[in-house]
Amino acid sequence: MNDLSCLKPIRMFVLDMDGTIYLGDRLFPFTPSFLETVRATGRDFCFFTNNSSKNRQAYLEKLDRMGIRIPPEKMLISNGVILDWLAANRPGERCYLVGTPPLTRDFLDAGVALDDRDPDYVVLGFDTTLTYEKLEKACSFIRRGKPVYGVNPDFNCPVEGGFIPDCGSIAALVKASTGVQCEFFGKPSPHTLRYMLEHTGCKPQELAVVGDRLYTDIAVADGSPVVSILVMSGETTPEMLAESPVQPDLVVSDLGELASVLQSL
Ligand SMILES: [Mg+2]
Repeated sequence: MNDLSCLKPIRMFVLDMDGTIYLGDRLFPFTPSFLETVRATGRDFCFFTNNSSKNRQAYLEKLDRMGIRIPPEKMLISNGVILDWLAANRPGERCYLVGTPPLTRDFLDAGVALDDRDPDYVVLGFDTTLTYEKLEKACSFIRRGKPVYGVNPDFNCPVEGGFIPDCGSIAALVKASTGVQCEFFGKPSPHTLRYMLEHTGCKPQELAVVGDRLYTDIAVADGSPVVSILVMSGETTPEMLAESPVQPDLVVSDLGELASVLQSL
């Protein structure tokens, strides 16, 4: 671990958001200068979030409020990963979507036909507007043999003062009722690694993923030449790192330290 030579070929950093560039609504003080350093060393960055309760626009607005202005194509989200896959693999089919209004808007904008009576498949998102009726419908379609996909596998989403149940927990409830485990998109699925490479145009060894969570941000690069960098500014403790079967290529305390490392190369 911490062999810095793997950073030399890096052209693009794909940055996680919460716990990596900010905590809740507080931008980390070192984030703007880190982004500057990335640019100054001839590299580039984009952001990726698993949070399928929101969409690209919501994140662009949040970043803008923090003084970070980026073109829309630099804001990647798990919604885009599943929508790309559906366009290639289930074109023209009808979807029963369990999701928030922003996720629903993304599906409609992508041309997916939504159907709550006789869909071809079911998609579970991080639905903060979940109702019993939606669960009942999703489970009955799945019991009739319709395939089910989950936008992101996270069990919990960090919020001010704790956690709230995320898409992975909704999928666990659906599995308890139907016996069917959905296929997940978002980090750490291989669909997401492919999406990151396609959307950045990078070769695997030119891409670095940076994040604070071992089982999503770091696991997405596991077994590939993509470089993984763990920041200790979020949820991972030294004990969690020591016990984890998934290990990053590099560990830094935060993006401030990563900026110093980049300047020293
Ligand atoms: Mg995070």
